Amino acid sequence: MAPGVAGMADGSGTDRMTRGGRSPDALPPILCYHKVDTRLELGVTRLGPRAFRSQMEALARAGTRTLGGAELEALLTGPAAGEGGRRPEGPSLRPPPPCVVLTFDDGYASLASHAFPVLADLGLRALVFVVTDFVGRDNDWDVHYGWLRFRHLSWDELARWRERGIEVHSHGAAHARLTWLEDAAAADELGRSREAIAGRLGEAPAALAYPFGAVDARVARLARAAGYRLGFAGPGGRAGGAGAADPMALPRRPVYAWDASATPLVLREDPLGAVARAAARLANRLSVTTSLVHRLGWGGGERPAGRREAKPGSQEVR
Ligand SMILES: [Zn+2]
Repeated sequence: MAPGVAGMADGSGTDRMTRGGRSPDALPPILCYHKVDTRLELGVTRLGPRAFRSQMEALARAGTRTLGGAELEALLTGPAAGEGGRRPEGPSLRPPPPCVVLTFDDGYASLASHAFPVLADLGLRALVFVVTDFVGRDNDWDVHYGWLRFRHLSWDELARWRERGIEVHSHGAAHARLTWLEDAAAADELGRSREAIAGRLGEAPAALAYPFGAVDARVARLARAAGYRLGFAGPGGRAGGAGAADPMALPRRPVYAWDASATPLVLREDPLGAVARAAARLANRLSVTTSLVHRLGWGGGERPAGRREAKPGSQEVR
């Protein structure tokens, strides 16, 4: 298991690092998409199919390698360059190809029309995180800005795309904000979702994307206890101590509606990229309103039955 999380797993709340953790800066950028859809909505998580295709084509043109979950896990747990390994010599001193991890939250059905075929055409891999209670159903867990409904991929569709390079992982059972749940309810969300995917697709998911990117030390510990080995967070991630990347709270770069140029602004390492990442962090923080609207019963959607929510207030890192 990854050494960077040792301090968190013991429940002490301290973030000690042992050895071998990777600096978050040494990891490939992890992009986070939501809807790729022709329908306009008032929310910020939709990207048009044409913009999405141009971003994927730009990645492919640059020779970018897309990593799967297992490769990312190996990168996180393997020895870092200069720590016990010899640096390559001679011709292999060429810079390695750029790498990126492509992730899709929520598992919307429109991905099968507008995103996955593009990835398959270009030979790119991706991870999709599904809300298992809502697979094949409308997104009634969400606030319906503009009263539009968006259907989620069905189990059959997920099984088909899984054979074409799309990994299927967990986004919880009912898209609950885990940091607001008591231990038992959060463990139920995590375990039930993992069991559903294992039962339907024949393989338990190694990875989890926390709904709303909301994770703290307690939720990360519960996720590990449920069997997950990788946890994808929001733009802030959660440092695993002494600068090591924490495999259970990996920071991502959300590509929101305004980030439609061929190279997403959040990938740029210049001042414009810094502004785009700050805007993404702000938009992610505002997602708390979605959770509050649901808590107050104004969302018009379903609330998961039998959940007792803890008071908000635990530290969230996005
Ligand atoms: Zn989500």
